[in-house]
Amino acid sequence: MAFLEIRNLVKRFGAFVATNDVSCDIDETGILSIIGPNGAGKTTFFNLLTGLLKPDSGSIHYRGKDITGLKPYQVVGQGIARSFQVVSLFEEMTVLENVCIGVQHRLGQMRHPFRSFKKNKQVQEKAMEILERVNIADKANNGAAYIPHGDRKILDLAVAITSEPQTLLLDEPMAGLSKAERLRITDLIKELNKTTKIIIVEHDMDLVFGISDEIIVLHHGTILATGTPKEIANNNEVQAAYLGH
Ligand code: ADP
Repeated sequence: MAFLEIRNLVKRFGAFVATNDVSCDIDETGILSIIGPNGAGKTTFFNLLTGLLKPDSGSIHYRGKDITGLKPYQVVGQGIARSFQVVSLFEEMTVLENVCIGVQHRLGQMRHPFRSFKKNKQVQEKAMEILERVNIADKANNGAAYIPHGDRKILDLAVAITSEPQTLLLDEPMAGLSKAERLRITDLIKELNKTTKIIIVEHDMDLVFGISDEIIVLHHGTILATGTPKEIANNNEVQAAYLGH
């Protein structure tokens, strides 16, 4: 069985079929990008994988286990974490405190989540380790609301990896970033990929074609093509449907 095995996945919104009989096998290693025109069903696919939406039919098996229809926190418990296109942080807290909340959750110490970590050295040290890994430890004591947009994206990633996922889904990690910030995130994604499977939905084709080991092209809720960046770039159907050549 594949690392992530998706079979005949269907999601309807009323009469509209947003995910139309999608089947694919996803490998344990490497960076996979999901691309496709607006409305192709990329976000819906992510939402199905992470339990935010329940499929109408079909199945998702992760490392041999049926995770179809599990709730988001149960999916996280299986080792799949996610970042969102719109970053969601505790704005009134510091960078370190945001990561502490995630670490504390991981350690199962959530009875008094907002106050107990302040005295918990283990939680704080683990959170600092994560901030060092993603290179924003120098911002640890800054207010989350007051750091630049690129750092906020990185902080969101830092919070996502507090659950120590084997698989990390990134929803438009480059959205709204400057060129310098995009380079930082690119390096970070490559670094995280040394220990974590990465699946990205992204419109930035420089990133997608530069970083991916494999690309899946969605179109009208179905898989139009799967292949290496080179295969996708040379695929006539993809060019006609999406790349506009
Ligand atoms: P993408 O991420 O590729 O732009 P989406 O997965 O967001 O595409 O959307 C796929 C299609 O499903 C779109 O036509 C969108 O309008 C529709 N859709 C997505 N979510 C909902 C919803 N909650 N209710 C109704 N239609 C939806």
